[in-house]
Amino acid sequence: MSIESKILPEYKLELLPMSAEAENAMGFPMSTPDIGKRSRLGGTPGFIQDADWPICPYCREKMTFYAQLDAIGDGYDLADCGLIYVFVCFDCYETKSFVQSY
Ligand SMILES: [Zn+2]
Repeated sequence: MSIESKILPEYKLELLPMSAEAENAMGFPMSTPDIGKRSRLGGTPGFIQDADWPICPYCREKMTFYAQLDAIGDGYDLADCGLIYVFVCFDCYETKSFVQSY
């Protein structure tokens, strides 16, 4: 794991609810203002726990960080305010995702 993988340009991802039900499901208590708003594409992962950078099972190279996805709201919390991390290998088009939480 000596060579850093490619880093994609960074984009903030924001939720645009497509129904009243979706809008009502969004949000967390006021004590956690950034929770639910940490979704983004590209850049580098904001690991909650120790860095866990996957290796492609086919070419054995470090995978590229693609996105981190936050929970929609308190009713769909990912463990304890966790995030889903998504990685891709641009040579093999293999992906890997996992959750880290507090
Ligand atoms: Zn690969």
